[in-house]
Amino acid sequence: MPDMAPEWLEKLLVLQDRDVHRLLVETQLAAIPREREAAARKIAQHKVVIEEAHGRVRELELERSRLEQEIATTEEQARKYRNQQIQVKKNDEYQALTHEIAGTEAKISDLEGKEIQTLYDLDAEREKTATEEKVQGEEITFLENQLVRLTEKDGNLKTELVRARETVEVARKEVPARSHRVYDRLAKVLALPVIVPLRGQKCSGCHLRVSAGVDAEVRGGGEMTACDNCTRILYSEA
Ligand SMILES: [Zn+2]
Repeated sequence: MPDMAPEWLEKLLVLQDRDVHRLLVETQLAAIPREREAAARKIAQHKVVIEEAHGRVRELELERSRLEQEIATTEEQARKYRNQQIQVKKNDEYQALTHEIAGTEAKISDLEGKEIQTLYDLDAEREKTATEEKVQGEEITFLENQLVRLTEKDGNLKTELVRARETVEVARKEVPARSHRVYDRLAKVLALPVIVPLRGQKCSGCHLRVSAGVDAEVRGGGEMTACDNCTRILYSEA
């Protein structure tokens, strides 16, 4: 800021500083719901991965009991054939039953093979599920902590915003009415800052070169001078 800065400029720069801070706090506060949603969505996704792993274990457990059931039924069938075989008199009937018994025994052996495979798969799947629970669980814990931190941040920012708005109002009361109206109008249509230094004949708001007239007026100080490109208020840093 210039040493002999006019009062309106000093006051406006204080107001702008505080306004920029207020805006920053508002922006951070506005981002929190999205950050919260993102964390909650990720937690849900990690839970789905765990749930799917449990689902695969349940499927294999069901498959295993279905196989055991089928083995029991087939063994029962084999027993019936053997009982029938004891009672038959005719040789061709006896032979037919021998054939049936061989069939059920082959089926039992096949089912037992499948059951063993299912038990192996089940072991592997249970191990994978335990690992998945650990890995996903760590991610979930991390995200849950993040949610706690976001809640704290939300509270702190709300407190900070009340304070920031108060300091803006205090600064605003200090600014002469005319400067105040110009500032408000500019702040409404342009991004802050709207009171910017002129550097090497360039406006540091839009970075374009100002006219010689504007340059001279700003260097002269005193009056409020607008950039002839973006209409921001310029001041000389020299
Ligand atoms: Zn400009």
